[in-house]
Amino acid sequence: MALRKIVYYPDDPLTQLARPVENFGERLQRLIGDMIETMRANEGVGLAAPQVGLAKRVFVLQEPDAEPIAFVNPEIITMDGQAEGEEGCLSMPGIYAKVPRATRLLLRAQEPTGEKFEMEAEDFLARIIQHETDHLNGILFPERLDLLTRQDKLEEWARRRAELLSDPSGDHAAQ
Ligand code: ZN
Repeated sequence: MALRKIVYYPDDPLTQLARPVENFGERLQRLIGDMIETMRANEGVGLAAPQVGLAKRVFVLQEPDAEPIAFVNPEIITMDGQAEGEEGCLSMPGIYAKVPRATRLLLRAQEPTGEKFEMEAEDFLARIIQHETDHLNGILFPERLDLLTRQDKLEEWARRRAELLSDPSGDHAAQ
């Protein structure tokens, strides 16, 4: 397995609609393994394929003290409830905001083998799933904020990104 470089907003393919996975071969297994390793190395709780440069409908997540889970071709079937909770994103490191999300959802997806499964999720897990599913649809969390907060956060990120990219010692993949 290998660490993959994380793409920063607004670089491609972060704002694109990701394509469904059709081939469940070795290449997909390697991608998922690399994504889990990259998520852990960056202390993230979730990572979507567009964040490592691939516009494919795949994401991984890992709650504290739990095993990592991979979701291929995920689809949120139902959502309800609403709560705000703080989110950050490995594609906008250093930027955080309180984001409104549904508190419960039902998800349908495929395992890395292609086997279909359904899953119910609540609270923090439901939040991660919504954040990562948004990535597959080209949406980053500032788009879920009210207009003024969104503008603030995007300006903050533009400054932060310039700093990160101008620091020659900065390890892009590690942040
Ligand atoms: Zn993210």
